[in-house]
Amino acid sequence: MADIVTKLKKSIGESALYLEPDNEDLGAYTNDWTKKFSGYTPLVLRPRTVSEVSKMVSLCNDLGVHLVPQGGNTGVVGGSTPRSGEVILSLSRLNNLGDYDPASATIVVEAGTVLTSVQEFSANKGMEFPIDLGARGQCQIGGMLATNAGGNRVLRYGMMREQVRGLEIVLADGTILSNLNRLRKDNSGIDLKQIFVGSEGILGVITRAVLQLSPAPEARRTALFAIKDRDMLPSILAAIRESLPGLSSLEVILQDVIELVIEKVECPDFPLPRHYPAYIIVEEETESGDVGHSRFIQRLEGLFESGLIADAVVAESVSQSERLWHFREATGEAIVLAGHTHKFDVTVPQGKIPIFLEEMEELAGILPGCRPLLFGHLGDGNIHVNFVQTSSIDDKSFLAAGQELSKSVYKILGMHQGSVSAEHGIGMLKREYLPYSKTLEEINLMRNLKATLDPNGILNPGVMLLDQNKY
Ligand SMILES: Cc1cc2nc3c(=O)[nH]c(=O)nc-3n(C[C@H](O)[C@H](O)[C@H](O)COP(=O)(O)OP(=O)(O)OC[C@H]3O[C@@H](n4cnc5c(N)ncnc54)[C@H](O)[C@@H]3O)c2cc1C
Repeated sequence: MADIVTKLKKSIGESALYLEPDNEDLGAYTNDWTKKFSGYTPLVLRPRTVSEVSKMVSLCNDLGVHLVPQGGNTGVVGGSTPRSGEVILSLSRLNNLGDYDPASATIVVEAGTVLTSVQEFSANKGMEFPIDLGARGQCQIGGMLATNAGGNRVLRYGMMREQVRGLEIVLADGTILSNLNRLRKDNSGIDLKQIFVGSEGILGVITRAVLQLSPAPEARRTALFAIKDRDMLPSILAAIRESLPGLSSLEVILQDVIELVIEKVECPDFPLPRHYPAYIIVEEETESGDVGHSRFIQRLEGLFESGLIADAVVAESVSQSERLWHFREATGEAIVLAGHTHKFDVTVPQGKIPIFLEEMEELAGILPGCRPLLFGHLGDGNIHVNFVQTSSIDDKSFLAAGQELSKSVYKILGMHQGSVSAEHGIGMLKREYLPYSKTLEEINLMRNLKATLDPNGILNPGVMLLDQNKY
């Protein structure tokens, strides 16, 4: 390690580009948001320019030093923290954004830019960056691209993959692969940037991106529905899609989760009776003012007449809408406060959601002392499955059951042709379950790509892929 420090000082200068391991700030780099993943690092590299990233990565490659690219450290699958003494490459200082081109509605953003900065910049231009998620104040564009992050409006705008026009990557040997074009249409050969989106830092380090902005909608309207029959969720989904042409979010929260949120987190009064088995939040983009509001109401009335919705409340203002969204946004915090949890972020074909919910509840019945809490992005078939520890089981037994539980959940998903990771990626957490969503041929191709782009295996070793003989 002394070797790399000396060489870095010589080639980049002494200007505090790294932190020594005894620096008290190091915990922010070595522990992730979930507090489940942490590890030792001897060194944190903090480049300020793309050229510094390139020099650092190239030097690590020459010396065989393993690196963990790190953004805001809000990833929840253990891909952003060191496992066995890797050096951390923090992109936080690479945080310039700008160069707005109104004609194409695109901006150039450095990887370390935090999502809220992009959202604020876009709003100042009268535009919007449509990806939004709970970690917005901390997650960075590079990390969001590396995990192909989604969020609440995927239904209308897609994931990070859909927002990126151009990308710049530093490869493992330090080569800067730069294609910062602003083109929506570019069929000149293989779209290489998409290989790096969702690659979780194992193929290259994302340094800059050209992002597509969207026109800000005139207004967003929110309503909360009570559902009396969970089996009707696919029909409800179809009816809502048909009725609301500007549908931008469609979230489902089962009754137990609402109860937990009310119990654990400070909340406004829940505006509907609490005995229904499920609740849905819908958001539609509409015209502004009374016209938009009454059209939204008219369309909801049509839905009511279908008999699929038992009860509903419509937000009359932005603050009322925020109060409704609170019951969805506070789910993460409430579950953290509830205690140890086995968490699964999965996708199920929408038509299979009712049976999948039942199957998850049955699984919880097999593990004593386990409370199933289910919610998610209904429109995308993305269900967040949480098995929370209750007081009737001790920590050790509950935690020990995690692996068996994972196998059962992913086996069921495999049967439904779902995905073991909807949004969060594979990281360290889900590596052994990748074959439930990908064929061995696909996994081998991923491995070959990794070997081609990073022959010395210095970038995020161990993340996403297990060794060949482990599948
Ligand atoms: C409260 C909360 C809510 C969340 N909600 C959502 C949600 O709705 N939808 C969703 O998709 N995710 C969600 N997440 C997960 C997380 O925020 C996203 O995965 C986010 O995109 C990670 O960004 P980051 O900058 O924190 O990346 P990190 O956590 O730092 O890194 C994540 C992965 O990307 C790699 N990486 C980071 N930066 C780079 C780079 N520049 N180049 C190459 N690789 C890199 C890391 O090595 C790691 O493998 C949520 C997380 C929290 C804590």
